Amino acid sequence: SHNERPCRIAVIGSGPAGFYTAYRAMAKIRGAKVDMYESLPVPFGLVRFGVAPDHPEVKNCQEKFEEVAASPNFTFVGNVSVGSPSDRPDGSAVSLASILRHYNAVVFAYGASMDRTLGIPGEAALKGVYSAREFVGWYNGLPEYADLAPDLTRGEEAVIIGQGNVALDVARMLLEDVDVLRKSDIAAHALETLSKSRVERVHVVGRRGPMQRTHQALCRGLPPYRYRPDPYQSQATPPPPRRLMDILLKGSPTTPSPSSNNTKSWSLDFCLTPKQFLPRPSSPSHLGFTEFERTTLSPTPFDPHAYALGTGATVQIPSSLAFRSIGYKSAPLHEFAGIGIPFDAARGVISNDGSGRVQHDERTRGAAMALVSFPGLYCAGWVKRGPTGVIASTMQDAFATADAIAEDWAKKDVSFLNEQGGGAVAGWEGVQLETGVDKANVVSWEDWRKIDGAERERGRPIGKEREKFITTSEMLAVVR
Ligand code: FAD
Repeated sequence: SHNERPCRIAVIGSGPAGFYTAYRAMAKIRGAKVDMYESLPVPFGLVRFGVAPDHPEVKNCQEKFEEVAASPNFTFVGNVSVGSPSDRPDGSAVSLASILRHYNAVVFAYGASMDRTLGIPGEAALKGVYSAREFVGWYNGLPEYADLAPDLTRGEEAVIIGQGNVALDVARMLLEDVDVLRKSDIAAHALETLSKSRVERVHVVGRRGPMQRTHQALCRGLPPYRYRPDPYQSQATPPPPRRLMDILLKGSPTTPSPSSNNTKSWSLDFCLTPKQFLPRPSSPSHLGFTEFERTTLSPTPFDPHAYALGTGATVQIPSSLAFRSIGYKSAPLHEFAGIGIPFDAARGVISNDGSGRVQHDERTRGAAMALVSFPGLYCAGWVKRGPTGVIASTMQDAFATADAIAEDWAKKDVSFLNEQGGGAVAGWEGVQLETGVDKANVVSWEDWRKIDGAERERGRPIGKEREKFITTSEMLAVVR
């Protein structure tokens, strides 16, 4: 039966979900071998490209990941994208179909590579309207957004639409004293641009009220500037509850550090829903105002689950910059539809049983059909649960997935991929032979260590932990 052979697992994605699943699966299944595929030449997903540079302690989980990667049963296959060979003219991609032929189990841990849009006028056309995802990627040196070049010099007011953790990260980065960021691992181009920023005032705007926000989320890093509630807010909006107010005031001292510009301020603006982005009269291709409709909360403003209803009354906030921060979004891999792997488009997750086993529940269609399962296919992290939660919750969730794999592997009657024929599968070696991926394009863990070393070396003279390479060609130049 399957459990007499080494279990070969392909993990797709090298963020926290991928690493924690790999760690736990290798610990629980004797002789398990994990090959981890990552489309970028560098590992760690949003730990490198999401977490704000002024929160370096959050990145300590990388030490654990380094340990995982040191196992002889672990292979990193970097700069190899799974499932979209046509997007990669240099050939550094493999088809999912090929992966499925060479492993016993496949874990989808590829995160959320898109973001939600508002779908309102001006969003796509006006200069100055950004998604938080691209801005975050830009300041963290994500190659995809290396050329974003946001213009922070056109005006003093910015709005951020959404009030979650990412919105607060963006607010902090817009207002932060650049001297605080100088020693962080922020991308050099971002430091340069932020040092010329004219932004003084940031509105962090939500559709609902203070009672519908989770206080917990607020504890993660507020802008170190004056919290100045906003005149745009409707009189009918209840003031933030005492506890929230305490956090706001404690988190943002009214007396900023001496080196900082004390005219900077920010606010959480409640009960406003975005309607349209309007041009600046003097420069019609640029954003000038963001128009919101005031909302009222139903059934009451104090109900934590209240929802926002439009009132028809509008307000325009002058803004030369707007960031939509209303959530990341996962997408199915291109090959899913052809292979028949179920993706829940409404929730933006791979359909699964909650423990990470890929599973399609036909019952929701009212049919008498039972669950359709996909032996050997699993998912973890944001693509399993949706794009919310911190690294700790992603770890819990990845452990649950690895436990499901271990539990299934221990059972004789649960099937896995490629069990017919009785021979062992060949993993990455097999995929490589079959797809003819050019080995010269593949980044091994050793290669990553060289890139890592080179980045640290670049940072040293300027007192930075690292100076990130921001294009894949720079990264690859270190190892070729
Ligand atoms: P990801 O980290 O996104 O990893 C997915 C990986 O898969 C990526 O490396 C991607 O390149 C790769 N990939 C994608 N497609 C493919 C493919 N086709 N083939 C191969 N590889 C692929 N959490 C905290 O605890 N503290 C914080 O301070 C914090 N700050 C955050 C700030 C921001 C802006 C964001 C967005 C998130 C933050 N989080 C924070 C949350 C944390 O980053 C996530 O919980 C976690 O990274 C999710 O892990 P994941 O592995 O599911 O996805």
